[in-house]
Amino acid sequence: MKHNFTAGPAILPKTVFDKAAQAVTNFNNSGLSLLEISHRSEDFDAVIEEARKTALELFGLGDDYEALFMTGGASTQFALLPNNFLNAKAAYLDTGTWANKAIKEAKFFGEVNVVASSKDTNYNHIPKGYQVPADADYFHITTNNTIFGTQIHDMPEVDVPLVADMSSDIYSREIDANKFHLIYAGAQKNLGPSGVTLVLIRKSWLDTVKRAMPSMFAYKTFVDNQSLYNTPPVFPIYVMMENLRWIKAQGGLKAIEKANQEKAQLLYDAIDNLPLFKGVAATEDRSLMNITFVLTKPELDKEFLAEAEAAGCVGLAGHRSVGGFRASTYNALAKESVQALVDVMTAFSKKHG
Ligand SMILES: *Cc1c(COP(=O)(O)O)cnc(C)c1O
Repeated sequence: MKHNFTAGPAILPKTVFDKAAQAVTNFNNSGLSLLEISHRSEDFDAVIEEARKTALELFGLGDDYEALFMTGGASTQFALLPNNFLNAKAAYLDTGTWANKAIKEAKFFGEVNVVASSKDTNYNHIPKGYQVPADADYFHITTNNTIFGTQIHDMPEVDVPLVADMSSDIYSREIDANKFHLIYAGAQKNLGPSGVTLVLIRKSWLDTVKRAMPSMFAYKTFVDNQSLYNTPPVFPIYVMMENLRWIKAQGGLKAIEKANQEKAQLLYDAIDNLPLFKGVAATEDRSLMNITFVLTKPELDKEFLAEAEAAGCVGLAGHRSVGGFRASTYNALAKESVQALVDVMTAFSKKHG
C-alpha cells in the first residue's frame, strides 16, 4: 500500500477514483462513457448542478454567490482577477512563490501595493500588523502556502473586497467564506484532478468591472452562462463533484477540519519531539495541509527518503526552494498514512539519534 504525501496533483478518496473509473466506461448505466456525451445533456447537467450547489453549500454561500468552473489553473486566475477587478490599485500580501506570481500578473493591469512580505525570511511565516489602503480595489491573500508550509489561521478584517487563492486548502476547514468577494482554487491539490479551477464569486462585484475584454476572460460570461459558454472540462468537473459529495458525506467541513487537525498534530508532534527533525515554518503559522520539515543531519536526507519509500511513504521530497521534506496531508489522506510516516521517523531517529 502507498501513502501518498505528494503536494499536487494529489491524493483523492479511493471511492472517488472508483466512481471516476466507472463513469469513464459506463456513465450512469447509460452504456456510454462520460467522455463521449454532450456537455449540454441532461446527465451532465445534473453533474455540474450538483457540483455548483455543493461547492456553495459547503461554504455556507447563498444566492448572492456563484460557483464557476473554469480552466487554465490558478495561474490563469492570477491574471483574470486583475483583468476584471483592478481598476486603479490592488493590495497583495506576499507570503510565498504563488503569491509572488499573482503579484507579477496584477502589475500588467494597474498599481500593485504589496502590503507586507515574508520573503526575507524565505517565507517561513505570515506577516501580521500590516495596513491595507482603503482605496484598493481589492486585497489578495494566499490562504495556504503550499511550498513553504504556512497557512493563514485568522482571516484579515479589511474594508475592501477580500480575495483568496485557496488552491491548497479549500474545503479543508471551516471558514467564514462570506467575508470574501472571490475565492479561487486550481483543483489538483485538495479538490479534484487538474484541468478545472473553481471560482466562487460574489455576483454584485461584477457591477464594478470597467474594462472591455474578450468573452473568455470575463467572469460575467461564466456567470451568465452557468460555466457553459464553451465546452467545460467535463471529466474534472465530474470528479470534483464526487469529491465534494464525499466531503459532505464525511460530515462537511467541521468533520474534515477535525480529521485534518488530528493528522497534522500527529506529525508536528513527531517533528517537535524527535531530536533528528525540525519544523521549517513558524509554529503559529504552521499549515495543516503541507507540513515542511528538515533533518538536523542533512547528510542523512537521502537515506531517510529511501526508508520512507520502503515503508510506502511517497512524495516527501521538499520543494527545491525550501529543501528537506514536505508531507502534504490533504483531506483524502488517512490518519493511518500519517502514522506510517511517524513510525518511519521514530525508527530512523532511534537508529541515528
Ligand atoms: C499549485 C498552486 C498554484 C498554481 O496552480 P495551477 O493550477 O497549476 O496554476 C497557485 N496557488 C497555489 C496556492 C498553489 O498551491
